[in-house]
Amino acid sequence: MHCIFCSIIKKEIKSEIIYEDNYTIAFLDIAPISSGHVLVIPKLHFTNLTETDPLMLAYVMQSAQKIAGAMAKALKLSGYNILINNGAVAGQIIDHFHLHIIPRRAKDGLEAWPQGEYQASEAGQIAKKIIASLPKS
Ligand code: AMP
Ligand code: ZN
Repeated sequence: MHCIFCSIIKKEIKSEIIYEDNYTIAFLDIAPISSGHVLVIPKLHFTNLTETDPLMLAYVMQSAQKIAGAMAKALKLSGYNILINNGAVAGQIIDHFHLHIIPRRAKDGLEAWPQGEYQASEAGQIAKKIIASLPKS
């Protein structure tokens, strides 16, 4: 199986790596949503968030926290978005789990998604369905 992010980890293809530790690596997105857009990935290959080992997920999040702080300072950001696309329908094009850190600046034109509203008992029914499928602890 060919995975472009695994190739980046192995340094087989060039990328602008900004952070690396034993479990994670982060590099600039080649097609940034905004300048400084970074991807943080686990060094082990997992297809998506659902499949990612929880410990590796914790390492990715810890790296993201460090990197986002550095980005905010270095690039003088007003804020940033953390994004994980899960599944093709959600815009996932690379099947190696990755977390986006997207720099935000005042009046950058990156508007929030539209929000809707629930009818009558709809919210309660949806909540019940999700709760019934949660893993039993
Ligand atoms: P997603 O749509 O969540 O799967 O995001 C995949 C991201 O990977 C996109 O934003 C791409 O621009 C980015 N990408 C694809 N190939 C490379 C590459 N060789 N180096 C850096 N970023 C890449
Ligand atoms: Zn991979």
